[in-house]
Amino acid sequence: MLAERATILTPSLTLSIDSKAKAMKAEGIDVCSFGAGEPDFDTPEHIKLAAQAAIEQGFTKYTPSSGIPELREAIAAKFKADNQLDYKSSQIIVSNGAKHSCYNAILATVQPGDEVLIPSPYWLSYPEMVRLAGGDPVFVQTREENGWKMTPDDFQDAMTPRTKMVIINSPGNPTGAVYSREELQALVEVAGTEDILILSDEIYEKLTYDGVEHVSTASLSPEAYNLTITVNGFSKAYSMTGWRLGYLAAPEPIAKAIDAIQSHSTSNPCSFAQKGGLAALKGDQSCIEDMRAEFDMRRQYMVGRLKGIDRVSVVAPQGAFYVLANIGMLGLSSNNFADRLLSKHHVAVVPGVAFGNDATVRFSYATSLDIIKKGLDRFEEFCRTL
Ligand SMILES: *Cc1c(COP(=O)(O)O)cnc(C)c1O
Repeated sequence: MLAERATILTPSLTLSIDSKAKAMKAEGIDVCSFGAGEPDFDTPEHIKLAAQAAIEQGFTKYTPSSGIPELREAIAAKFKADNQLDYKSSQIIVSNGAKHSCYNAILATVQPGDEVLIPSPYWLSYPEMVRLAGGDPVFVQTREENGWKMTPDDFQDAMTPRTKMVIINSPGNPTGAVYSREELQALVEVAGTEDILILSDEIYEKLTYDGVEHVSTASLSPEAYNLTITVNGFSKAYSMTGWRLGYLAAPEPIAKAIDAIQSHSTSNPCSFAQKGGLAALKGDQSCIEDMRAEFDMRRQYMVGRLKGIDRVSVVAPQGAFYVLANIGMLGLSSNNFADRLLSKHHVAVVPGVAFGNDATVRFSYATSLDIIKKGLDRFEEFCRTL
């Protein structure tokens, strides 16, 4: 009954732990959850007000499929100011979240037989998007000693004549790894040898720590610009996950193709959400720094605690809001580990097998410091019993 493409998808592993944690909470059990994939802050007031005003004013109809012109222009201005990138608004497509932007980018460029290189551990939607497009995801294992970053050699070794695209997610989920300018430059050089497209998912751009700079891949050279599709959005920087608003910028022919795909599938992203997005870009940016500073405080605490636990190792993340802990030395699979941790000690983490690495579990610090403290006390106790 089903199309083949619908049968090859892997059900989301993160959801099963999540639903178990929710069921336990509903029973009144005090669960410390580190599963969150979204900021725990409210959307800033001025953004909410702008969307409310848009509704009041009747801005509730279809908009141009790729987004309202003033938002696309504001995004072009943002790229110029923040990322030293020159995109015309015709190169920018606003979609229903950065996830949708990634999917559109893959649908527009990847075809059956094409391989897409995905550094692992990876964000779990990338391989499924590639499969939906008929392509083959190829995982490039990264190593803890390289800070979970793909090296030019790793990249080179994974390339075949079928390689069409490589996905770079910096700052990264689930690792928190941030590629430096030099590291990105080296990867761009490898991509350039065979004109491999680069999908650069920069959704965590605003969340970097220790003074580390975020660099946009497309800004590195004219060659990088021509090979790269830059994805960004509002969900993480402005705590707007439920608004479903993201965007991409690409060389003109790719942007045009994505425009056509979007116009025949989803049409425009929500009209008044776009007005909220416009207010986010044009308004006071201090809300971002407030959130970043709070995340940083929690990150330092969490990394410090995890480093102190016997047989657990962590690479201090320099971005996003996750810590990937290596629990390989404790002798359990990540699923078994997460399951026992949740049922016996009431702590929810995401098993790393969901991200392609069974020796790890992911902690999100998008939760209060009190919960982080209590949850890590319990986690430490659990590790001692193993
Ligand atoms: C959260 C996330 C996104 C997408 O967020 P949207 O809510 O769809 O804008 C994209 N990439 C990664 C790696 C993420 O973690």
